[in-house]
Amino acid sequence: MPHWRPLLSAALLAAFYALPWLRWNGRQALLFDLPGRRFDLFGLTLWPQDLGVLLGLLAVMATSLVLLTSLAGRVWCGHGCPQTLWSRLFRWIEQATARHLRQPVLARAAKHLLWAVVALWTGVTFVGLFSPMQTLVGTLWPPAWSGWETFWVAFYALATWGNAGFLRQQVCIDLCPFARICPSLCDADTPQVQYDARRGEPRGPRAHGLGAVMQRGRGLLDAVSASDYAFRAAHPALAGPMPHFPADRLGDCVDCGACVAACPMALDVRSGPHVDCIACGACVDACNTQMRAWQFPAGLLRHASTAHMQQRRTRWLRPRTLTALITLLVLLGVGLHRL
Ligand code: SF4
Ligand code: SF4
Repeated sequence: MPHWRPLLSAALLAAFYALPWLRWNGRQALLFDLPGRRFDLFGLTLWPQDLGVLLGLLAVMATSLVLLTSLAGRVWCGHGCPQTLWSRLFRWIEQATARHLRQPVLARAAKHLLWAVVALWTGVTFVGLFSPMQTLVGTLWPPAWSGWETFWVAFYALATWGNAGFLRQQVCIDLCPFARICPSLCDADTPQVQYDARRGEPRGPRAHGLGAVMQRGRGLLDAVSASDYAFRAAHPALAGPMPHFPADRLGDCVDCGACVAACPMALDVRSGPHVDCIACGACVDACNTQMRAWQFPAGLLRHASTAHMQQRRTRWLRPRTLTALITLLVLLGVGLHRL
């Protein structure tokens, strides 16, 4: 099912833009009214003396993120993080304008115009979580915003435009603190995007109609040969040129490069799991499309733990997952007791 990822991104973006318009008991459902020192959270009203509740909510969210990453890998980075969502939206605008407008100057102008509109509305939506949205939009024209509203709308619009339009994956690689701690939350039992080298190697182009390795009886390679071929393909300068294989000995990777072209982080996942991989699954979808075109089974690239790829049992309950789970349960227990 290759299309659920863009649909999920669209749903999350739509939810963000709808958020300040939601009402609860006649008031804006989510409003951080800083001058009024009042936070409305879907019927729950917090005052300055409730700072502990707000900190508790933040702690619950942080612990949930740690638990999710430890159990499922960087799925937040690949599917929920605003940097990923807006980068994907801006890239989609870039590709759509280039596809529909043949004149490069027109395509570039349309792209920047659409980027500017999205960035500006993102700034308005964000400020609409701190200043009543209906008033903010009602005073859009003629402009009657306060200096702070104007500053923060412009600030978030510029940040969106710069981060999603230009910096993109550099934010994940160089700036994001969560990306720095992710390796310490994951281990051999954490699912990540993996290449099945036993099935895919040796890679190479071939004529159509030969069938997948299991269909034509070649079967899976042993793990040592598979990783040797994958290493040789990734490091030709070190390992020397790959031997030439007859078509019936080739694995299921047709070496089309679609996975590399689809990767927003410019990775080749066939070289092994990489610390910069955000588990977005774009390579998985691109490869499954190729597998369907060749009438091979899907799953040459897939989300799986290293333990699973090595035919070991994946352990879901480990010290780090148990610690995060117990912390989360304690936080929720204390929170429910206080409410
Ligand atoms: S390797 Fe695949 S899952 Fe990882 S960032 Fe690249 S496209 Fe996304
Ligand atoms: S998309 Fe699949 S078949 Fe194509 S190069 Fe990548 S792993 Fe090989």
